[in-house]
Amino acid sequence: MVDLGRGLRNALAKISGAPLVDEKAVQLLVKELQKVLISNDVEIKLVFELSKRVKEKALDKNLMKGISVREHVVKVVYDELLGLLGQSYQPSLNKQKIMLVGLFGSGKTTACAKLAHYYKTKGLTTALIACDVERPAAYEQLEQLSKQANSIFYGIKGETDVKKIIKYALESAKEDVLILDSAGRSAFDERLSTEIKDINDAFNPDSTYLTLSADIGQVAGRQAEQFNEMLGIKGVIVTKLDGSGKGGGALSAVSRSSAKVAFIGTGEKIQDIKVYNSEKFVGQLLGFADLEALMEKMKTIAEEQNLSKNIIEDKFTFKTFAEQLKATKKMGPLKNIFSMMGAPDVPTEALKQGENKIKQFEAIINSMTPAEREDAKLLKKTRSRMERIAKGSGTNYNEVRKLISEFEKMEKTLKGFQKNRGMKGKLQKMLQNSNLKIPGM
Ligand code: GDP
Repeated sequence: MVDLGRGLRNALAKISGAPLVDEKAVQLLVKELQKVLISNDVEIKLVFELSKRVKEKALDKNLMKGISVREHVVKVVYDELLGLLGQSYQPSLNKQKIMLVGLFGSGKTTACAKLAHYYKTKGLTTALIACDVERPAAYEQLEQLSKQANSIFYGIKGETDVKKIIKYALESAKEDVLILDSAGRSAFDERLSTEIKDINDAFNPDSTYLTLSADIGQVAGRQAEQFNEMLGIKGVIVTKLDGSGKGGGALSAVSRSSAKVAFIGTGEKIQDIKVYNSEKFVGQLLGFADLEALMEKMKTIAEEQNLSKNIIEDKFTFKTFAEQLKATKKMGPLKNIFSMMGAPDVPTEALKQGENKIKQFEAIINSMTPAEREDAKLLKKTRSRMERIAKGSGTNYNEVRKLISEFEKMEKTLKGFQKNRGMKGKLQKMLQNSNLKIPGM
């Protein structure tokens, strides 16, 4: 995985060094991407589909306003890798019984202790149960590891009947999280399947995790599928990501299977476990110093564009007004959009209101019927409507009237925008640059 990151970072660095991001530069980036993904054992078909999309999107001339070409390309690659590597996982922190399954050497026994360590750091008490009766040293290994993980250990030395061990453990255990190490095998076969099913029936786990070593690459997808069919696994723990050059293949294949990546193992020590967070993972791969800030920026710009689209394109209704209020809450004063339009004297009074006021406005708007939300005149016709809304929103008649008056002020200004020629010119320019549409322009 380390190499995957370096190759990509070099390719992206080339893009930023290029005087202009043209087809040739993108071609080079895509080539580099293909090289690193294929050498990481990512399925060829996926690699080609991904590169095709990167090429198309990276060369898309309709750049989001306020974003540099490099940022655009980073975002395109980021999104595609995220799609490839699947979703982040959120483990339950409830009391639970966990069973680990996996083939010999997949890191199953180690992962039991790693999970115990993880739940310990979350403030839960943990116990390990030794049911790997196939591998001779597994009992001692788990016992040893349980000490490191500060966990209680349950096992019956020399016992081969897993039902007995489970019965004993379940009768004795008081801990929040019970983690059972099941029997491994060198290959997936009938016997393994029967054994694990027996353990499953006796233990009745809340979550079953499968351990797979990253160095098996894309084969991981098939194994995940097999185990999932047999037991219905909660997720996969992909181990040994630290030492494998095939991690990309393993992660992408599992993400494409009917199972999901849940945790990753990144070393031999019990602390070397992480909940799978694909966003973070891809961010690290790309090594773009401030990827999070970039994503945040893009989100805000997208929200702003959506917002200005509403203002310009739609009839201004309470619905639009409510959307603006919501967005204001999220991103601060609407000043940006209005100054983008070059309007210094907008009635920002409503938008300057504090959090509580905005919440109150929202409650009022929520209490309107859909027809009222579309038509302020209807609302003003009768006092009884306003009173009904006041009651429904826990406000009073005056508050409702005040909201209507704020609404009308803003509506007037927006109409002014559309009539004013100078403003119209500015808007047209802005629209050309930003893909927005406005009727009659
Ligand atoms: P089991 O047969 O599936 O129970 O596998 P073990 O838990 O005994 O692990 C097999 C070997 O892999 C041991 O030497 C572990 O120390 C090692 N191992 C397990 N997980 C990781 C990991 O995430 N990274 C590295 N580098 N080694 C690991």
